[in-house]
Amino acid sequence: MSDCIFCRIVRGEIPCGKIYEDEDVLAFKDIHPQAPVHFLIIPKRHFTSLADALPADAPLLGHMLALAPRLAADLGCAEGFRTIVNTGRVGGQEVYHLHLHVLGGETPLPAMLKY
Ligand code: AMP
Ligand code: ZN
Repeated sequence: MSDCIFCRIVRGEIPCGKIYEDEDVLAFKDIHPQAPVHFLIIPKRHFTSLADALPADAPLLGHMLALAPRLAADLGCAEGFRTIVNTGRVGGQEVYHLHLHVLGGETPLPAMLKY
């Protein structure tokens, strides 16, 4: 996807605060942090949303999820963190390239949802 902002970050066309990279995924700081620690883990290949996930994507999704505690610990989230995947219009997804939010810090995060 040539105009997808996260694909552009993967290609190095837009700078990011890179935290981690391997063959399949990239992790970088969220540009508008909602907590003292807030980063995103994305697949390098374009993947529109979790709604498009197939059983064959399970290893990639598992890799992203398993990275979250490791990277969160590296950034000082010793006592926990929150992972979020916003999906679609109702889920409040703004960037249509799958991403796992990881949020944390020293104090407990606010209530998850106010509805
Ligand atoms: P979502 O609502 O789950 O689609 O969230 C998209 C997230 O991407 C938001 O938290 C944005 O702050 C973040 N974001 C958008 N553009 C960038 C960027 N260039 N670098 C880092 N984070 C970004
Ligand atoms: Zn993309």
